Amino acid sequence: MEQTARKIIADHPQFTFVASKTASWSPRDSQISYTLASAFGLAGLLHELAHALLGHTNYATDIDLLHKEVSAWEKAATLADRYHITLDQNHMQDCLDTYRDWAYKRSICPSCHANGLQTAAQDYHCLNCGQQWHVSGSRFCRPYRRTGHTKKSQDTVPALSRFV
Ligand SMILES: [Zn+2]
Ligand SMILES: [Zn+2]
Repeated sequence: MEQTARKIIADHPQFTFVASKTASWSPRDSQISYTLASAFGLAGLLHELAHALLGHTNYATDIDLLHKEVSAWEKAATLADRYHITLDQNHMQDCLDTYRDWAYKRSICPSCHANGLQTAAQDYHCLNCGQQWHVSGSRFCRPYRRTGHTKKSQDTVPALSRFV
């Protein structure tokens, strides 16, 4: 695993690679964090590299993020062929399901549980009951907090600058 990782890293000198506890891509620093501690370490490394090669710098909406996640796995599969790595289809689907679940929870109206419409990076609107709610800029926080029916003044736009 380490030898393959070294080859992947050597082939992409335009990016900085950092061994870490988790895998992520930081467009701001052109930095890919990766871990070889997990069985899916190389898959994670290729996935983050794919984000980097695809030039993913931010995402406008949750759907946009989901699309970028799918395309990053597609690109990772191409890279895997080149390095003779077999990507576990179940692992890829699990990763995508995590995003789908996250996006789904954020999109559900806290009042009537209808599926809402995302109106901005952090705002959803329910067409059924008129409820508006605010979602976190982070993928790792609770899915939403209620803001009532009047639109809340916009918080500072979050730095959506890290892909995992
Ligand atoms: Zn509603
Ligand atoms: Zn990703």
